[in-house]
Amino acid sequence: MRVDVRGARLFDPASGLDRTADLLIEDGVISAIGAGLPHGDETVAADGRLVTPGLCDVHAHLREPGHTAEEDIDSGLAAALAGGFTDVCAMPDTMPPVDDPWLLRQLLARAAGKPVRLHQIAALTRGQAGQELAEMAGLQEAGAIAFSDDGHGVGRSDVMRLALQYAQAFDGLIVSHAEDPVLSGPGVMHEGKVSYRLGLPGQPRSAESSIVARDLELLRDVGGRLHVAHVSARETLALLAKGQSDGLAVSAEVTPHHLLLTDEDVAELGTLAKLNPPLRTREDRDALRAALASGLVDCIATDHAPHTAAAKREGMLHAPFGVIGLETAFASLYTELVTTGLLTLGRLVTAMTAGPRRIFGLAPAAIHEGALACLSVFDLETSWTVGPGTLRSRSSNSALLGRTLRGRAIGIITEGRWHPVDL
Ligand SMILES: [Zn+2]
Repeated sequence: MRVDVRGARLFDPASGLDRTADLLIEDGVISAIGAGLPHGDETVAADGRLVTPGLCDVHAHLREPGHTAEEDIDSGLAAALAGGFTDVCAMPDTMPPVDDPWLLRQLLARAAGKPVRLHQIAALTRGQAGQELAEMAGLQEAGAIAFSDDGHGVGRSDVMRLALQYAQAFDGLIVSHAEDPVLSGPGVMHEGKVSYRLGLPGQPRSAESSIVARDLELLRDVGGRLHVAHVSARETLALLAKGQSDGLAVSAEVTPHHLLLTDEDVAELGTLAKLNPPLRTREDRDALRAALASGLVDCIATDHAPHTAAAKREGMLHAPFGVIGLETAFASLYTELVTTGLLTLGRLVTAMTAGPRRIFGLAPAAIHEGALACLSVFDLETSWTVGPGTLRSRSSNSALLGRTLRGRAIGIITEGRWHPVDL
C-alpha cells in the first residue's frame, strides 16, 4: 500500500521542519519527501494544508464499559479522529474500573484495527477505592501505559508513597488527579469572588496545590515518576517548577478548557463550565498559558468527559463534572492562542505530539524519511461553528457550543492508510 500526500506544509517542530513538499508513504513508512514524487495507490491532495506528527491525547474518558450511554470506544475514537488525533489514552474510571489485566486486554482488543490507536491507563488502586494498590505489574504487562485513580484524589499518602516506590520495579508512570477531597468538599466551582456572587460552594486552589506539594515530597523521599493531570492553579505551577529544577521526575498537563475559560464563564455557561478541577481566575489561566509557552508544562490533554444532556441539566449542585474536548482541542487552541499571537504553532503542536508521547513512553511520531507514518492533517483556513450537529461524540456537553473556530482536521494517516474525516 502506497499513499502520497501532495503539496503539504510539513511541520515538525522537534526537527525544525517547516516546508511545502510531497510525501510518499510505503507500507506505513515515510519513504520519500520532496517534489514531484510518484503517485501511490491513494493520493491526498493537501494543497498547503498543515501536516503534523500525529496528535496524542493522554487523558480521555471513553466510558466503556459501564457508561456507554455517554460514550463508547467507537464513538470516542470517531470523535478523536474528527479532532485530528492518532492516539488516545483512555482513563480507567469506568464501571467496573480498569483494575484487572483481563479487562484491560479486552478493551485494547476492542479497538484493534481502528484508525485511531487506543492506549489504556490502568487503575492505581483496586476499584479506584484508594486503599490498596491494583495489580500494577500485571496491568503493565497487559499493556497499561500508566496508572491513575483519576476522578478521585488519592487521599492516603501511604498508598501514594507505596505506588511511587513499587512502580519503579517496571518504570511505571503514576498520573495524579491532585485533589484533597476534604478541602474540595462540596465545592462545584473555584472558590473566589464569582462563587460568592453566585452563592455556590467553592473549591480552593489549595485543594490541588497541597496534594501536589505532598506528592513532590513523596517523590523526593522514594523516587518514581509522577505526571500531574489537568493543572488548574498557579500555585501548582510554582511547585512544579521547583520540583523540576530539583531534578524530580515530574511532568504535568493542561486542558484546553483551563487555557481558554475562567470561573467568570460559569455564570453564563452553567454546568457546561462545571469542571474538576474547576475553572479558576484570569490570573491562573494566564499563568497556565505562560507555563505552556515556556515548556514548564509540555503536554495538552483534553480530559474529554462525556455526560448526557439529562445529567448536565441537573443544575450546578448536582450535575456531574466535565466537558467533552477531543473534537475541539486543536482548533480552539489554534484559534484562541495561535492566531492571536499568544502561543506559537510550534509550542501548540509539540504539546499535543512529542510532549505527551515522551512523558507516557509512546512511540515517537516524526516527519522524516524512514519514520513510521503517524500524521495529522489540518485545514487552517476553514472556519466552523461548534454545535451538536458537528460532533461525533455520543455526548454534546461542550463548553464551546456556538463558538466559531478556525482550523479543522481533515484526516489522519496511521498504519499506512489515509483516514479522512467525514465532513
Ligand atoms: Zn481528573
